[in-house]
Amino acid sequence: MSGNMTDIKSMTIEELKNLMEEIGDKPFRAKQIYSWLHEHLAASYEEMTNLPKSLREKLSDYPITSLEPVEVQTSKIDGTRKYLFRLSDGNVIESVFMRYKHGNSVCISSQAGCRMGCRFCASTIGGLTRNLLPSEMLDQIYRIQVLTGERVSNVVVMGTGEPLDNYDNLLRFIHILTEEGGIHISQRNLTVSTCGLVPAMYKLAEEKLQITLAISLHAPNDAKRQELMPIAKKYSMDQVLEACRNYFSKTGRRLTFEYSLVAGVNDSEGDAGELAGRIRGINCHVNLIPVNPIKERSFTRSTRQAVENFKIKLEKCGINVTIRRKMGSDIDGACGQLRKRYIRCEI
Ligand code: SAH
Repeated sequence: MSGNMTDIKSMTIEELKNLMEEIGDKPFRAKQIYSWLHEHLAASYEEMTNLPKSLREKLSDYPITSLEPVEVQTSKIDGTRKYLFRLSDGNVIESVFMRYKHGNSVCISSQAGCRMGCRFCASTIGGLTRNLLPSEMLDQIYRIQVLTGERVSNVVVMGTGEPLDNYDNLLRFIHILTEEGGIHISQRNLTVSTCGLVPAMYKLAEEKLQITLAISLHAPNDAKRQELMPIAKKYSMDQVLEACRNYFSKTGRRLTFEYSLVAGVNDSEGDAGELAGRIRGINCHVNLIPVNPIKERSFTRSTRQAVENFKIKLEKCGINVTIRRKMGSDIDGACGQLRKRYIRCEI
């Protein structure tokens, strides 16, 4: 398995069975332990009251990954909560809890930091620190469900990090998250967002998952995309869009295109028309995100009118489009800002 061989919360049920064999215990215990970890969201072996004490003692060599909340910001407007969690090695990550009519959603981080370098994004400024383990991705959701006392029904991997740059851990996370016997979130309620790592998109299409793939486009052509996203120098928009068509043909899942609108950079009606021409024929939906300005960069958000005009233009071209509703505007600050502020204070 990838990652840490003693990380019990990252083990599949099969691997737990093997572990029971290795430590000379009964295979049926695997299911009990799995259920404690992933269904009852236990953070310690003491809670696992139906396991014999001797087994609990043996298992103490397999520490349970459990994130420590260090800061919570709660929106007075809509109840959105931003959590800052500390990992066992002292790194910190951000996760967000949002309430929607259709259920509660959690946005998780997939890496501590990021190496993709998108120009408007706060998460990438300090570079990549490390990949998150499957257990560390899962526990963002588990801790939030325990802390809020509310069921989480939707998960989006749109926090800090590039999930497809942490592919094996992401896949293991998806399986444990959506399997029966655990927290059992439907694959259809999981969205993974990528800046467009083309080879990984092809690989993901072969996994035959029912998750939604979201692609950060942010531009109608290569020249503009390259200004905003260094990864666009490696993979052209044609390559990214071809990988999207392939993803749809293999999975039947409609794609989401994310488009952050930056005033004067990618938000003209001409840009909208060009974008429509490029994505026409792909079964997709465009999500417009007025850019969240970060102080390290000089980008400014498009005006309300520009956003509306962009939307109308896309609609006229027959494209499905929504404007992302801004959640927790009173606790805002762009994604990754809470973590960055915290890291700065620590140094
Ligand atoms: N690495 C992945 C997922 C993380 S970011 C990706 O690139 O898709 C989730 C989304 O938020 C991406 O579309 C990203 O481009 C966008 N984003 C990041 N910083 C932003 C900001 N300051 N304003 C608006 N959108 C931003």
